[in-house]
Amino acid sequence: MDLDIKRLQTTLEQLNEYGNEGQGINRLAYTEEEQEAKNFFMELCKKEGMSVRLDTAGNIIARREGQDPSLPAVAFGSHIDTVYEGGKYDGAVGVVAALEVIRSLNDKKIKTAHPLEIISFACEESARFGYSTIGSKAMTGLLSGDYENLRDKDGVYLKEELSKYSLNLEEAKRPKEELEVFFEIHIEQGPALEETGKKIGIVTGIAAPTRFKLLVKGLASHSGTTPMKYRKDALLGASEIALALEEQAMEEEQYDTVATVGVCDVKPGAMNIVPGLVEMKVDIRGVSEESKARVIEKLQSAVEKAEAKRGLEITSTVLAEETPVQLEERVIDSLKETADKLGHSYLLMPSGAGHDAMNMAHLCPTGMLFIPSKDGLSHNPQEYSSIEDIGIGAELLEEEIMKWAKVVKEAER
Ligand SMILES: [Zn+2]
Repeated sequence: MDLDIKRLQTTLEQLNEYGNEGQGINRLAYTEEEQEAKNFFMELCKKEGMSVRLDTAGNIIARREGQDPSLPAVAFGSHIDTVYEGGKYDGAVGVVAALEVIRSLNDKKIKTAHPLEIISFACEESARFGYSTIGSKAMTGLLSGDYENLRDKDGVYLKEELSKYSLNLEEAKRPKEELEVFFEIHIEQGPALEETGKKIGIVTGIAAPTRFKLLVKGLASHSGTTPMKYRKDALLGASEIALALEEQAMEEEQYDTVATVGVCDVKPGAMNIVPGLVEMKVDIRGVSEESKARVIEKLQSAVEKAEAKRGLEITSTVLAEETPVQLEERVIDSLKETADKLGHSYLLMPSGAGHDAMNMAHLCPTGMLFIPSKDGLSHNPQEYSSIEDIGIGAELLEEEIMKWAKVVKEAER
């Protein structure tokens, strides 16, 4: 491997000194800790001879000119922000690997026809403001809703933080013509690579959630005096709905669709009262719209059945409805070819979690690579990926970048 793994590791460790107090890494979006980490990273990019700027959303764009500056840029990167008490790899791996690619090309004095750009996106995590991938949404023109009035848990408005750093999300949009392709390396955040022993995940599509809030109304009554057949037990109705969701999602396994009831509040919530009201929150995700639609249909039919069977009244509200993103076939094929060339085993897989790449896919051809996560853990101080695995990902990225950016032959330099 001609990348410098030790150097990559040192940079990762240095970056992770920012926001590293007590439990895990706290480098929340648009905070001083994150800004300091950004400054540190921008300095490293400048040392490599890159021109570096922060766009008006707070995204870092570090550019290495190509032989022909009029060509669109070959871009790659990830994010620096973390969740509360986050780990050292989610996001950080992608930006540090991107920098190592530039360093390695500089070491070898390799020139490319296309300019290269490292992009480190702002506010990828929804942890602080409840809104994810703000930087890439701003860059791709996908922001929606009243995002400026979002507040963090201390009541600080997003718009206050934006004005503190003189940022304006509206002005960060980039024209399609500026970018040839975008790549992101990220930790897998799931167990598939570790379980199969493969070193690289080539992402085929990024799942999007559809979320519902269900209010299941029954009748609260005495648990001792209400005979079973006269009950309108909201929890039992909710349970049947949850099990029906599981059943359908299991049938959709080949499409990687998943369904989760992550919230189930039982009211009044006493041992001696038949549950009269349940609030459930349902999250259905997948990369296939058809498959997701079948799970949603099953949810609706389970709701109707529970109403009829148990005399319940159920209302359902859509909380989010996002469309899955399929990544371009020719980018996936190109990554497969590069992995084969370097002799790295890979797995074609969907991403169950959202990433900046899903937004970038609306702007330019986009590819995404996963590296193994120990025990599939993430958003946790215990998350871990080995430096060797990160190195393999970075090596693949470098090879892929050289292909898209077109290495200029010795004689032409
Ligand atoms: Zn991430």
